[in-house]
Amino acid sequence: MKKRFFVLLLLCLLLSGCSHRHSWQEASCTAPRCCTACGETEGEPLGHEWQETDCTEAKRCLRCGETEGEPLGHAFTEPNYQDASVCARCGAAGESVLTPAFERFGLRCTAGSGVSCEYVTCTREDSGVSVRGQVTFTELPAEDKPVNLEELEGYEWRCVGISMSFGGRDALLKGVRWSCVDEDYYDIELHDASCFALDGGSDGFTVNFHGVDYPDCVRSYEYDNGHWDANVYYVECVEWFRIPVGYDGVVVGVRDAAVPWVEGGHIYDAANENAVFFRLQ
Ligand SMILES: [Zn+2]
Ligand SMILES: [Zn+2]
Ligand SMILES: [Zn+2]
Repeated sequence: MKKRFFVLLLLCLLLSGCSHRHSWQEASCTAPRCCTACGETEGEPLGHEWQETDCTEAKRCLRCGETEGEPLGHAFTEPNYQDASVCARCGAAGESVLTPAFERFGLRCTAGSGVSCEYVTCTREDSGVSVRGQVTFTELPAEDKPVNLEELEGYEWRCVGISMSFGGRDALLKGVRWSCVDEDYYDIELHDASCFALDGGSDGFTVNFHGVDYPDCVRSYEYDNGHWDANVYYVECVEWFRIPVGYDGVVVGVRDAAVPWVEGGHIYDAANENAVFFRLQ
């Protein structure tokens, strides 16, 4: 009898121990709902609510802030002469546009269309004797181009006239040596390396525009051999260029012929302060 009472009492004590009001702590990403008093659990953990990895942030739980792995890092495009680098994924800005070769080498395109500029070069007989003249670059309507210049999808024709005149005793006695150049504002080396002679006195060359090579550029020209008129020596040239539509990197110029042009050299080796450049923009 005594033993039975004791068992009942124990049972009551046990029952009362379990009948407290649970003090629930809500479920978290990794733990189920749990009583802080007795440790009883209910249900399942919620699981993480992942926000996917992006360029700058690792995979991260929106609820608890736990992270996993590493950020992806930006996927930058290559910058070119027209376009800065951007991240292809998030659009973040990367490196700025490449610096045009003319700017890197301190060559300035100072001539405006139709504006006469001073041009100093040398005599034909003696490169040590300088000749002072004038040069005018003028953009002309390209419709007047010779008929042998073909149209090509994605390209357009542009035209520049170059007029020079030289006077003075030294020019008259020793002749005039002048030097016309055609160049590329953005990439001098690409221009020079890609130049090749085409049939009919034209040249082919390549330019890079918005990161794309255009290998079907053409330069065609008509030069007179110069003529004297009332003790002034005149030279007239016209150059046509087939270049990508909207391209603004063609440069024509004249340089001081007293500076020797070394085989394999570039305009930045062969231009002194007397060079005059016109950029076809
Ligand atoms: Zn409890
Ligand atoms: Zn979480
Ligand atoms: Zn990015």
